[in-house]
Amino acid sequence: MHPAADSFHIAKMFEDIDDYAIIFLDTEGNIDSWNAGAEKIKGYTSNEVLGKNFRIFYTQEDIISQKPEKMINEAIRNGKALDEGWRVCKNGLRFWGSIRITALYDDHGELIGFSKITRDLTEKFNTQTAIEKYMQKLEIQNKELEQFVYIASHDLQEPLLTVSSFIDLLKEEYSGTIDPTGEMYLGFIAQSTERMRSLIKGLLDYARLGKKKEVGMVDCNALIEEVKIDLFSVIEPSGAKIICGNLPVVKGFATELRLLFQNLISNSLKFRKKEVSPVIRISAQPTRQGWQFSVTDNGIGIEDRFKERIFVIFQRLHNRTDYEGNGIGLAHCKKITELHGGKISVESSPGNGSSFHFTLNLL
Ligand code: ADP
Repeated sequence: MHPAADSFHIAKMFEDIDDYAIIFLDTEGNIDSWNAGAEKIKGYTSNEVLGKNFRIFYTQEDIISQKPEKMINEAIRNGKALDEGWRVCKNGLRFWGSIRITALYDDHGELIGFSKITRDLTEKFNTQTAIEKYMQKLEIQNKELEQFVYIASHDLQEPLLTVSSFIDLLKEEYSGTIDPTGEMYLGFIAQSTERMRSLIKGLLDYARLGKKKEVGMVDCNALIEEVKIDLFSVIEPSGAKIICGNLPVVKGFATELRLLFQNLISNSLKFRKKEVSPVIRISAQPTRQGWQFSVTDNGIGIEDRFKERIFVIFQRLHNRTDYEGNGIGLAHCKKITELHGGKISVESSPGNGSSFHFTLNLL
């Protein structure tokens, strides 16, 4: 035994510790000893509490529900009793304590009392509660925003449909009576309504992502094969090569994951260098929480300063005459990876292709 580990030195050490309230109770729960930490946390001096029942630290509700007695009984039954909860100081204020009560026995196995160690976790508890409240508020605001986007985009479809129908009617019933300039204007209106229709559809799809939330096991190899079939009409004429390692089976939302791969692959096909056939490599690496995927192309690349912006909805780096699109694809990809607890980012240098990396964490 260490020379300082006799009962005198240990008792002295307990007295001095001031971050923990360390007290001893007799078999009835009356206070036998009191240290500096107990005075600091609970506000009583030893003279004020010695001999009193430890019940005085409990709230009125806990006293009524006999929590102190239950803690003691549990310590007798299991050797120890643990709890976290509000306790009361001398001045009536509450603190959030982490409590451990241990039953103590003599050499003959006779119960001689209890040790009770309390830590004041009020600050940690308050920070935790503030974070939780903030998260709840954010979640409500997000839900409201999603609801708004959903309703707005859903309702906008109807008047748009009316505009398109009347353009068609005008063209049909007044053909020959409208002069070429009028025809041209009608053409512009029709093009713009078509574009608005596809923007609204994109927005509606965005709001719908993950709404059904059907989690299943998704074989990414099979999924890529399906995407290749869907994109055949673009892959074939471009002479594109899509090279996949052996991809994993992941737990996730099948429809959304397909959309994620489809968006990334079709972007790689779209933003290719004119004179070079696209080569797209798809790979996956296990991570501690799931998988990291990479979709790498040999396309036009992206400037460093746009690496965040491209994931924002409706943000595009080119005009529509150079490259078709709405600026919704990567916003979808971001939302889908986040639905899977993951993140998406891009590594690229202009002229040298891009690598989109995203993680899917275990759901
Ligand atoms: P869209 O493809 O409809 O323009 P996205 O949200 O999919 O919209 O992409 C946003 C922008 O990011 C694109 O307009 C393009 O400028 C850039 N981008 C996306 N993928 C690639 C890629 N593989 N290579 C180069 N640029 C890309």
